[in-house]
Amino acid sequence: MIKFLDLQKINLLHQEEIEAKLSQVFRSGWYLMGQELSTFQENLSQYIGAQYAIGVANGLDALRLILRAYIELGIMSPGDEIIVPSNTYIASILAVSDNGLVPVLVEPDINNYNIDISKIKEKISSKTKGILIVHLYGRIVFSEELQQLAQAHNLKIIEDNAQTIGAEWNGKKSGNLADAAGFSFYPGKNLGALGDAGAVTTNDEKLAATIKALANYGSNQKYVNIYQGLNSRLDEIQAAVLDVKLKYIDSENETRRQIAKRYISEIKNPAITLPEYPENEKEHVWHVFVIRTAQRDALQKYLTENEIQTLIHYPIPPHKQQAYKEWNEQSFPISEKIHEEILSLPISPVMTAEEIEKVIEILNKF
Ligand SMILES: *Cc1c(COP(=O)(O)O)cnc(C)c1O
Repeated sequence: MIKFLDLQKINLLHQEEIEAKLSQVFRSGWYLMGQELSTFQENLSQYIGAQYAIGVANGLDALRLILRAYIELGIMSPGDEIIVPSNTYIASILAVSDNGLVPVLVEPDINNYNIDISKIKEKISSKTKGILIVHLYGRIVFSEELQQLAQAHNLKIIEDNAQTIGAEWNGKKSGNLADAAGFSFYPGKNLGALGDAGAVTTNDEKLAATIKALANYGSNQKYVNIYQGLNSRLDEIQAAVLDVKLKYIDSENETRRQIAKRYISEIKNPAITLPEYPENEKEHVWHVFVIRTAQRDALQKYLTENEIQTLIHYPIPPHKQQAYKEWNEQSFPISEKIHEEILSLPISPVMTAEEIEKVIEILNKF
């Protein structure tokens, strides 16, 4: 059986270092807001190139806290509109509506599944305050045109970088392209913790200080509360594990690129649409390798019978979810087509050459 993602094998790559750290933190008697968190925040901010990195409890909180901080700073107010892609994991949109902000959905580009930047302008209104871009599936979505559009309309650009740590655009890392970025270190992400974890990066000092306080009950000084905050902390164990794994993220992303390259050059089946390999390969870290076919369910069944595990990212578009029933009648045909036709193949830094070859061979026989 070829697993979609073998998390056990991925973490065992760093077994000795991780176990030493786990034991060290366990014995230290200090489990929250300590040295491990400071070290990881410093190393993450250096890696991303952003001035501030703030560890939080998970990726959804990272995004919620960025928007909440803009509200506390008077830059956004409940009822304001935030542009988001209609093709994304629902958490990107939950972060917006959770703050009483209004998500305005924009269709993706069918060729790369990311928000279609050329369709953003027509959705900007007098209430628009920000654009939440999602670098989906590991591929950066960004352009000078987007920067200029945001500047012209005085909009914040927030990056959902949950799937794309380590990717680069124009020599800058994702997470340092815009005003602020949210990261997820959910175990299955390219940089995964042993549980829930997340972070925010930004170069905005005020925003960083506000997020830090909000994530700590709204307090920046013990027992003094300036905001009605929440508890969203990255604990010492997760920070220590992430700090070990951060050192290997570039080489692990490179392995993913090599696999993607092989899939793209060797999968030859007219029934299957392969993803684009970007001209600048640094723009993609292949969090998932998404193919498209009109016979998606049949293909998934065939692969399962041939012991190849696949997943669908994602089976139901956000606007068709019961959680957003007010949108259920709206039409986003490109998103809907994507959700009906996509399938994610196994890709990970621990796949063997035989496994890669088997996936290619079985797909070519479909
Ligand atoms: C994983 C993910 C999130 C949420 O992260 P959690 O850590 O699971 O809360 C948000 N956005 C995208 C695009 C994701 O893939």
